[in-house]
Amino acid sequence: MNEKQYVIAMDQGTTSSRCILFDRRGAVRSVVQREFPQIYPQPGWVEHDPMDIWATQMGVTMEAMQKAGARAGDIAAIGITNQRETTLVWDAATGNPVCNAIVWQCRRTAERIERLRRDGLEETVRRKTGLIPDAYFSASKLEWILDNVPGARERAERGELRFGTVDSWLIWNLTGGRVHATDCTNASRTMLFDIHKLRWDPELLDYFRIPSSLLPRVLPSSSIFGETETFGGSIPIAAAAGDQQAALFGQCGFEPGDVKSTYGTGGFLLMNTGTEAVPSRRGLLTTIAASAGGETRYALEGSVFVAGAAIQWLRDELRLLDSAAQTEEVCRRLEDAGGVYVVPAFVGLGAPYWEPYARGTVVGLTRGVTRDHLIRAVTESLAYQTNDLLRAMKEESGLTLTSLKVDGGASANDFLMQFQADLSDLELQRPRYIETTALGAAYLAGLATGFWRDQEDIRGNWACERTFAPGISRERRQSLLKGWDRAVRCAVAWARDED
Ligand code: ADP
Repeated sequence: MNEKQYVIAMDQGTTSSRCILFDRRGAVRSVVQREFPQIYPQPGWVEHDPMDIWATQMGVTMEAMQKAGARAGDIAAIGITNQRETTLVWDAATGNPVCNAIVWQCRRTAERIERLRRDGLEETVRRKTGLIPDAYFSASKLEWILDNVPGARERAERGELRFGTVDSWLIWNLTGGRVHATDCTNASRTMLFDIHKLRWDPELLDYFRIPSSLLPRVLPSSSIFGETETFGGSIPIAAAAGDQQAALFGQCGFEPGDVKSTYGTGGFLLMNTGTEAVPSRRGLLTTIAASAGGETRYALEGSVFVAGAAIQWLRDELRLLDSAAQTEEVCRRLEDAGGVYVVPAFVGLGAPYWEPYARGTVVGLTRGVTRDHLIRAVTESLAYQTNDLLRAMKEESGLTLTSLKVDGGASANDFLMQFQADLSDLELQRPRYIETTALGAAYLAGLATGFWRDQEDIRGNWACERTFAPGISRERRQSLLKGWDRAVRCAVAWARDED
């Protein structure tokens, strides 16, 4: 019998679709990526053409198979990971979308969420879904489509339409419309799903006037969703998970207290809290983690709105850098940031501050401050913001962190990683392979089909490229953090003083 050699990870992101073929050791055997258009119909609105999502994801998958010389018979399973919260509605009979996908970043329903708060539903949403009500999540986007696309509500009430996040849309198309399903991590970002009872919540469906015939079946992340014949033979679709949850799994964050920190354009911190859904009082989100066993696992999630984006700002707007990577060499030239702190609150401050009107703030300027000090202060801000989330997570979960696994583009910066270890008094571990999102989807799919035996089997694939151990005194750490806390208070005061 033909031994299956590969697992396919379909990594459907906000700006591009990607496909990676992994072998049994978790090594990349081929990768193809393609960008697709972003649609901005009005300021603050963001859409994708659902056909672009499907076509690019199919295209890259076929090319990646071709590059590796793989046929359907060589593929053990497909795992899907995707941009979360993005909302699609299509016709059940034809598969035609009724409108463009509304992307997670889209703010068109921000006022609707204000109304939800006035209606006194904030606490209910937090308790049931683990989320803080926001236009990011799918619920208000889906309601918007039903209310604004001509005929959509009537058709939905007649049972003619289907709703899904990107994973559901891909599964539907991959199975020729036979399977309408999602996984529990994606469901947990819709703001319609009760993460404790693991079912669509009747009260929230009623509030947003969502007919239940629209909704996909919810399955565990690592399970058989269906079979696809798209690639010249039958292949099981054996996993789906939201991108951040897939990354935690790809980092082998299986145990309570395991944390991963992603340093990309924004920053994402996820902590596995095991079978306990830890409620947050400090603005973290409670969400379902991807898991391979029968039991539901939860995570606490916090995000930094502006992380690597602050470095892009130095490069593209201030023109202080030629490349993002140059920050490392500049930071190393200095003893410290010369007392300068930059709080890159360009779009307000998220957890644990939640100050939407805060703005970017530079404090501590003296006559001796140079361009290099400013660059160093911005680079350090990535670590300070991540540390704020870590502090909140430690307090709320009551779990002790032993180490922090890092990934994302800016995790390549050794100075930044060392500074993070110093600041957070934690050992950092950077894996050899930082494409952890795709790897997580592959692992989940490979576990569901026996390609990998168990979690121990894949843990053996996780290879550490480098560790960073804390190396400063307690006094020094406290003095750095005190300065940062003062700087944040300045950014917040700027917001509050407005009259
Ligand atoms: P995303 O997936 O969010 O698009 P990536 O994980 O590719 O982002 O990371 C890109 C971000 O990381 C950019 O904002 C860039 O400024 C930053 N970045 C990349 N390399 C470095 C580096 N060596 N030092 C600091 N920042 C970096």
